[in-house]
Amino acid sequence: MKTLNIKKQKTALVCGAGGFIGSHLVRKLKKEGFWVRGVDLKKPEFSKTEVDEFVVADLREQSVCKKILDRAFDEVYQLAADMGGAGYIFTGEHDADVMHNSATINLNISYYGQKAGIKKIFYSSSACIYPAYNQLEANNPNCSEASAYPAEPDSEYGWEKLFSERLYLSFMRNYGLNVRIARFHNIFGPEGTWRGGREKAPAAMSRKVAETKNGGTIEIWGDGKQTRSFLYIDECLEGVRRLMNSDFTGPVNIGSDEMIAINDLAKMAMEIAGKKINIKHIKGPLGVRGRNSDNHLIKAKLGWAPSASLKEGMKKTYLWIEQQVEKSANKKTK
Ligand code: NAD
Repeated sequence: MKTLNIKKQKTALVCGAGGFIGSHLVRKLKKEGFWVRGVDLKKPEFSKTEVDEFVVADLREQSVCKKILDRAFDEVYQLAADMGGAGYIFTGEHDADVMHNSATINLNISYYGQKAGIKKIFYSSSACIYPAYNQLEANNPNCSEASAYPAEPDSEYGWEKLFSERLYLSFMRNYGLNVRIARFHNIFGPEGTWRGGREKAPAAMSRKVAETKNGGTIEIWGDGKQTRSFLYIDECLEGVRRLMNSDFTGPVNIGSDEMIAINDLAKMAMEIAGKKINIKHIKGPLGVRGRNSDNHLIKAKLGWAPSASLKEGMKKTYLWIEQQVEKSANKKTK
């Protein structure tokens, strides 16, 4: 007798599917053959979602989380958070919302996820959990995973991420929830927020350069000597999928170790645009002085680490933002 060999389609739930990383992740999961349910307060802004089912809902509501976790999903990706770049996180104006909104989402998803018997869950933590005292100098920050404690994140956003890492790890210890945690370091790329106050440095620099004529001037917060590293979206997702397919729980850094000063990031955008623009330094929210991804652990555990150059990713991002700037200018003149 012939035995039936019907391969069951894997199921995934993506929380935050309307956001930057979530919408790119959905595309990747669909390519890999998953059936995907996406949940978010809003649908993706820049392209049509590819999910099988999109639920527009608020994950702070327990009733919503109970409903969307109605089956034992093979994989759950918890990316939903109240977040933004330095202009959103470091002014202090959004601290209560950031902590309350994101913590409530994570409390709900961990609890109802475990109840639903989900097979595996990914949680996106952040480089913002690392202690400020290890990032006081631009050129030698320490962001190795083991350096997270004693904790002293530079923002309430970072404290909430650290709390939620511990929350998921507690569910793993006490209820056997199968958890994977990554600490993302500044992910960027096309279809990311590029204006409005929540954008990150690569998008902000690209927008400023795209909006400014040759010989003009752009503003940069601080002296521009603060350093960061930035990871292109495709490599971020490659890291996420590799972590999910491994036995390693984490937390592990998913970031680039190509550190750059913000002044040089602006110059990179100018070079891509073929423009010469002056920089004016002004007061603004800054965060730590230096930050870079330490990739020793990811190499040891996954045998892989991001390797693409920042410039490659910046070219693709700049071109996409330039198009958005042109579209928006055309709308205004109509
Ligand atoms: P994003 O803001 O584009 O996406 C987050 C999504 O969560 C948004 O679409 C938002 O609408 C949704 N959301 C917020 N509150 C919600 C609620 N109550 N109910 C339902 N949906 C809600 O951000 P992103 O860049 O795609 O980041 C995804 C995750 O990765 C976040 O958890 C973020 O903290 C983390 N992270 C991102 C970066 C980065 O550089 N982008 C760095 C470190 C960590």
